[in-house]
Amino acid sequence: MTLSIRHEVLRLPLAQPFRISRADPGAGDEVTTVIAELRDERFPDVVGLGEGYPNRFFGETPATMAAVTPVLLEAAGSPEPTADGLRAASERVEAAIRWHGAAKCALDTALHDLVGKLAGEPVHRLLGLPAEGPPTDFSLGLDEPAVVAERARAVAGFPAIKIKVGGEADLPTLEAVRAVYDGALRVDANTGWSLDGARALLPRLVELGVELIEQPFPVGRLDWLADLQAFSPLPIVADESCVEPADLERLVGACAGVNVKLAKCGGPGPAVRMLRQATELGFRAFLGCMEETSLGIAAAAAAASLAEWVDLDGPLLLAADPFEGLALGADHRWQLADRPGLGVSRRP
Ligand SMILES: [Mg+2]
Repeated sequence: MTLSIRHEVLRLPLAQPFRISRADPGAGDEVTTVIAELRDERFPDVVGLGEGYPNRFFGETPATMAAVTPVLLEAAGSPEPTADGLRAASERVEAAIRWHGAAKCALDTALHDLVGKLAGEPVHRLLGLPAEGPPTDFSLGLDEPAVVAERARAVAGFPAIKIKVGGEADLPTLEAVRAVYDGALRVDANTGWSLDGARALLPRLVELGVELIEQPFPVGRLDWLADLQAFSPLPIVADESCVEPADLERLVGACAGVNVKLAKCGGPGPAVRMLRQATELGFRAFLGCMEETSLGIAAAAAAASLAEWVDLDGPLLLAADPFEGLALGADHRWQLADRPGLGVSRRP
């Protein structure tokens, strides 16, 4: 093994409070993410940058990331700096241990950046994918209906808004947003609804022109998911219930779509494989994110062409993005830099 890695834990303030249905009260003003610097002793002048966003919901913290990373590095070995070498190393890291998506994501993303820089290729090209994907939506957290509507008005140029629901006032919130916003509305309950509640809300969601419903129920309630999907003209998308490729087969027949995130499945390599498998199984593919910086979002955007829906707004939710090099186009598509690797570097 010739690789070594250094993690840096960043605590980043959010531009505005971001609450979801199962967050602790008072949480949502800042986020914690982990930046990785990967070095290969054979190529001492090049540093690969990666990011993994630890989600306590899946049991990950910066400490668990640090604890499992030696196992993952051992699995990565000394990859050849080519597309084939990268893919093989990425698959070994993914298979080394179950779960720990953020730890894998930090390493896998840094590997893609490092090999891209060494091979002189942007990451999307190493993956054999086009640079452009669908436009991203913009996410709004739980708050008073008038507050959410005001925030919606401020981002009304986005083609879609993702609204967090599962709070006290879901319907008044959606009605208030619809009154000021004409674009697509996606709702995400983050496991916060009951089956009866969702069935009762559904006709009004259809009238309001909601485009999709994300993770209405607790993770294990695939039976509720299947029940609602059978009854719903809107696609239901699994997020918390769909972490790794192994989850896809269990979800066949239970919901129309799946939300793939690099921080859940383990980085751009696993995300590409999972998005392809999801499509082959007949799912509509959603590519999502946590509140990563533009470093992590650049890695996700490299795979965005494989998704029908894109929610890659992490850096847009931060008060300040510590990285530069990734631009959001006027059409709200991420514009990947035509530079080797991820094309992202630290702001001076
Ligand atoms: Mg979600």
